[in-house]
Amino acid sequence: MNKKEMLVAAIKNGTVIDHIPSDKTYQVAQLLDLHNQETPVTIGYNYLSKKLGKKGIIKVEDKFFTDEEISRLSVVAPNIVLNIIRDFEVVEKKQVITPDEIHGIVRCNNPKCITNNEPMSTYFHVTNGILTCHYCEKEQDINKVELC
Ligand code: ZN
Repeated sequence: MNKKEMLVAAIKNGTVIDHIPSDKTYQVAQLLDLHNQETPVTIGYNYLSKKLGKKGIIKVEDKFFTDEEISRLSVVAPNIVLNIIRDFEVVEKKQVITPDEIHGIVRCNNPKCITNNEPMSTYFHVTNGILTCHYCEKEQDINKVELC
């Protein structure tokens, strides 16, 4: 096994999240709520990548994320790949699919929006990479959002 394969294959069962832009690694961990995870989690970054320059990798043992959880990553790292590992083998590669709606996660960038003034969560409709606030209709680019 070469060094590159070892990075991905070192867990028996679980998920290896690869091709994370290095500076987004902790945001991915936050969006997947990994600080509440009870099985071993390995977070690494600044690995050299031909595509990204530097990338992050997160390994989560005995955890398989739902499509809803994976879709949250579209706001920070739409091109990452989740390797599903069973018995040390990659059995599936999942990509992030941008959802039609985003609940919570992202802040509305309109200071007058009700979601910035009342204790309520945000709600956006997503079309072609543009998030439209359900309440005030302010639009923002999915690549420039601010997380809650
Ligand atoms: Zn709004």
